[in-house]
Amino acid sequence: MSGKYDFLIVGTGLFGAVSAYLLKKKGRSVLLIDKRNHVGGNVYTKNVNGINVHQYGAHIFHTSNKDVWQFVNSFVEFNRYTNSPVANYKGRLYNLPFNMNTFYQMWGVKTPEEAKTKIEEQKAEYHIENPKNLEEQAISLIGKDIYETLIKGYTQKQWGRKCTDLPAFIIQRLPVRFTFDNNYFNDKYQGIPEGGYTALIERMLEGCDVRLGVDYFDRKEELDALADRIIYTGEIDRYFNYQYGHLQYRTVTFETELLEGVENYQGNAVVNYTDAETPYTRIIEHKHFEYGTQPDTVISKEYSKEWQPGDEPYYPVNDTRNMELYARYKALADMQENVIFGGRLAEYKYYDMHKVIERAMEVIGEI
Ligand code: FAD
Ligand code: UDP
Repeated sequence: MSGKYDFLIVGTGLFGAVSAYLLKKKGRSVLLIDKRNHVGGNVYTKNVNGINVHQYGAHIFHTSNKDVWQFVNSFVEFNRYTNSPVANYKGRLYNLPFNMNTFYQMWGVKTPEEAKTKIEEQKAEYHIENPKNLEEQAISLIGKDIYETLIKGYTQKQWGRKCTDLPAFIIQRLPVRFTFDNNYFNDKYQGIPEGGYTALIERMLEGCDVRLGVDYFDRKEELDALADRIIYTGEIDRYFNYQYGHLQYRTVTFETELLEGVENYQGNAVVNYTDAETPYTRIIEHKHFEYGTQPDTVISKEYSKEWQPGDEPYYPVNDTRNMELYARYKALADMQENVIFGGRLAEYKYYDMHKVIERAMEVIGEI
């Protein structure tokens, strides 16, 4: 093949944007396309009345990888935002992640020793040796009361599946601490790009050719002819025309409202509703990600549901059935000589932003 560009990059999300930047630095020419009419993929932020709205859900950047942290800070400055979500269970508030504040609110215990004893007592009832699913993992980590109050309902809403049918690793994402520390992440570095994520992506893409509102599959042949190699960041099953069937995803509907004249709606960026009855999983108040002082506010309620063709795929459902199906698609992908599959959708992996960046650095480093 001999096209005008060295690379065609399908998708302007983090994987596509980081790849484009690194390739450009290596002297390669790139053309990016995206079916959406904006860059950034799911990290895209839109300015509404001076507030950067996280259009596709709250995005908090965190990493322990100094190279990744320095890399993102070389484009825009990051603020000192530390995620400390609050859980609302039937009107009572609890701190997250699970820490001494939560244990005090739940049981009135004041020392780490008392909290550990309480958890051990609750755990002992279940005789769990090796946690096989999310429920067993959660109970072994923090006992039955917290599982029932803060995890069970939220997780079932989020994943549309019983906690006994979900893999244990999902809950291992959350820290459990015996200190009074409400930081949701253990990573060394954390923050939000000043000016929003769109500013970060735009800086990465400076000088690159970008075509928006273009679906790769509508014009695949014509687009393929424009470049020698392809970096594909869309859904892997779609690339192969769903020939083995659909991979499953969870999608999220965002009900976003501008509340004019309301300066501070909930006092925190993230409030999770952990009971099973409230139909949404959480409410995001966007201005708090950047310590906003605007006279208005914007909030988003998040409703999670099973993905259907035509919906945005957000979360891969990494259960056994889907992982087996993914392995079959991956085998096909490995046979595509001129195509690199990367990112959350093409690798069908529950990647956070810093992991997507690491992965893009690794993949492009090998070129
Ligand atoms: P995407 O951002 O999905 O980009 C893929 C792009 O490809 C999209 O723009 C899409 O339009 C385009 N595309 C797909 N198919 C085609 C096609 N056929 N033709 C043209 N273009 C196409 N991570 C964190 O670190 N912290 C968080 O707090 C956090 N919160 C999250 C909250 C939610 C609700 C979700 C869903 C994810 C969250 N993440 C978070 C993860 C983060 O969004 C991802 O790690 C990251 O955005 C993945 O980047 P990507 O480039 O792989 O994929
Ligand atoms: N979780 C929960 N209660 C909460 C927050 C999270 O049970 O209040 C569980 C839920 O199963 C979720 C997982 O922990 O899928 C990981 O949470 P995280 O906030 O990392 O999910 P994200 O939405 O960022 O992917």
